[in-house]
Amino acid sequence: MTDLVIVGSGFYGLTVAQQAAERLGLKVKILERRNHIGGNAYSEIDAETGIEVHTYGSHLFHTSNERVWEYVNRFTAFNDYKHLVWAKHNGDLYPMPINLDTINKFFNLELDSASAKEFIQGQVNADDVSSATNLEERAIALVGQPLYEAFIKGYTEKQWQTDPKLLPADVINRLPMRFTREHRYFNDTHEGLPLSGYTAWLENMADHTNIEVVLNQDFFDVKSDLVGQVPIVYTGPIDRYFNYEFGELGWRTLDFESEVVMTGNYQNTSVVNYSDLDVPFTRIHEYRHLHPERNYQTDSTIISREYSRFALRNDEPYYPVNTSDDREKLVKYRILMENEPNVWFGGRLGSYQYLDMHMAIASALTAFDNEISPFFASR
Ligand code: FAD
Ligand code: UDP
Repeated sequence: MTDLVIVGSGFYGLTVAQQAAERLGLKVKILERRNHIGGNAYSEIDAETGIEVHTYGSHLFHTSNERVWEYVNRFTAFNDYKHLVWAKHNGDLYPMPINLDTINKFFNLELDSASAKEFIQGQVNADDVSSATNLEERAIALVGQPLYEAFIKGYTEKQWQTDPKLLPADVINRLPMRFTREHRYFNDTHEGLPLSGYTAWLENMADHTNIEVVLNQDFFDVKSDLVGQVPIVYTGPIDRYFNYEFGELGWRTLDFESEVVMTGNYQNTSVVNYSDLDVPFTRIHEYRHLHPERNYQTDSTIISREYSRFALRNDEPYYPVNTSDDREKLVKYRILMENEPNVWFGGRLGSYQYLDMHMAIASALTAFDNEISPFFASR
């Protein structure tokens, strides 16, 4: 007998399953539509090069949440990879996020931290940062017009196919602006890639006698047999759950075009962003650099060019677009979610939120503590 059904085997679903099996001894069944475990964090070894490829784009693990760091270390060890990104603009490479070296190279200056700050402050109005109502206003208030035009405008237009004036200002908060030479992409205390790969990590989380994972099983083929019969954690898209009653929520999807190149090193680093609109892709991933500790062969390397577009109904939804129209629909769906008996909605798709892996895990641990565990205790 199954005590709990979980729809989706991404980090959110796996964390809830692992906690329910270990802490409450529940029998958990995970239904997964795809032919593999792990949602978008899944990776596989490329047969031709032997390199671990992140099937849904480079996944960099980083967190400052000590509970999450301790938890994930139960299932995998990490290498000491630190993510560094370069942006290509007009044929030249610049450190990204924008830092002191980016500013000096772009403006052909040799400023120190204090004078670079003064120089940029001369181009911006600091009061506009908090009052900005869209991405373009906030980005210009943070970095000034010339750096915005070079590194943000074109990239953002390609990434979102939406005028930056129509995007929420918060999107740009993910990208820090620095007046030091710090080049790390993330500010978090802990960072690294799973030493034995993502799939081994994800499989370790599901490795419990009380957890059964059923692959190639779409929840909607069995929904009517389950809802109301067994408690459910649903991590798929919210609009799909309610049969698009209030319309579709907007998502971006990505296409990856992979190529094996006969060199041991294509671009020196795992990710290069392409800032300019005349290049159709947003970035190139070269996965070998995520694991410098591995002895990958040096005859060839595998790269992926990433293209972004609006998701149609049958595409994989990746990034919530989150326009004001989406937010209005979400309010209506949330009322239905609250009234759905014994179903908890969570994860990136089930909350319509851009969650990093550590955030999906943290949110699953919290939902388990505050909602799911008390529900079973009271039965
Ligand atoms: P998902 O991983 O999306 O899992 C949901 C699962 O539910 C999927 O396996 C799906 O197949 C399944 N499902 C959906 N509908 C059904 C159904 N009807 N029936 C059965 N199963 C169903 N995070 C980072 O921390 N660092 C990064 O560098 C990073 N890079 C990313 C790059 C990209 C391109 C994307 C899209 C995400 C990235 N993330 C990154 C975010 C990371 O992928 C998510 O935090 C994580 O996947 C969230 O896990 P989840 O369980 O909520 O969702
Ligand atoms: N961004 C940009 N130029 C870059 C990198 C990012 O303009 O070179 C903007 C863009 O709007 C993007 C946002 O910053 O959507 C967040 O970037 P991040 O790298 O966090 O996006 P993700 O890795 O989630 O695609």
